[in-house]
Amino acid sequence: MRIGVFGGTFDPPHLGHLVVASDACGALGLDRVLWIPSAVPPHKVNTVQAPAGARLEMVRAAIQGDPRFEADDLELRRPGPSYTVDTLRELAHRHSGAELVLLIGADNLREIPGWREPGEILRLARVAVLSRDGAGVPPDAPVPAVAVEVTRVDVSATEVRRRAAAGETIRYLVPDAVRALVERRGLYRELPRL
Ligand code: ATP
Repeated sequence: MRIGVFGGTFDPPHLGHLVVASDACGALGLDRVLWIPSAVPPHKVNTVQAPAGARLEMVRAAIQGDPRFEADDLELRRPGPSYTVDTLRELAHRHSGAELVLLIGADNLREIPGWREPGEILRLARVAVLSRDGAGVPPDAPVPAVAVEVTRVDVSATEVRRRAAAGETIRYLVPDAVRALVERRGLYRELPRL
């Protein structure tokens, strides 16, 4: 069993996330991808807007009907900041014998040595870099990684929030079920004051 670990704020989840998770599944032969909404990381405290429960609900709505995808709220249940190493430890315990593959954006690869217990992270999981420009893994990458070529879909959650706040449609940028939740819960009506 090979399991992809896909973390993010998912504020909200959008088509870019779905495409990369799907591409990674195919390219890496993953049996499953766990979508793990993060508790608000300190550097995003001014930009993450939807409450944790709403982000989890939106992830569930976004992936509904795709048997390869599963939402996991383990980082939301844990108090305090979430460290990747703790998440991987818990997943390794829960899915013993499975091979874990950490899916990360290309910009995050350079940050791994600064994360808590990077050696342990690399012992618990393989690292797969989601590459949108065919660049692959840079020769001076600080940790061993494989590159996954993913379809370029230039949607960001920031742009979805901006549109919602401006009263513009978010149709076709997020799944319909996510759009319905954004409307029903009145999310992203205002941009945060910085
Ligand atoms: P924000 O705009 O709020 O910063 P985001 O759209 O980048 O959010 P996150 O939830 O922070 O979304 O992203 C989770 C993961 O998905 C990250 O690894 C990020 O690099 C990746 N990702 C986000 N958008 C895309 C996209 N359009 N194509 C490929 N990967 C993406």
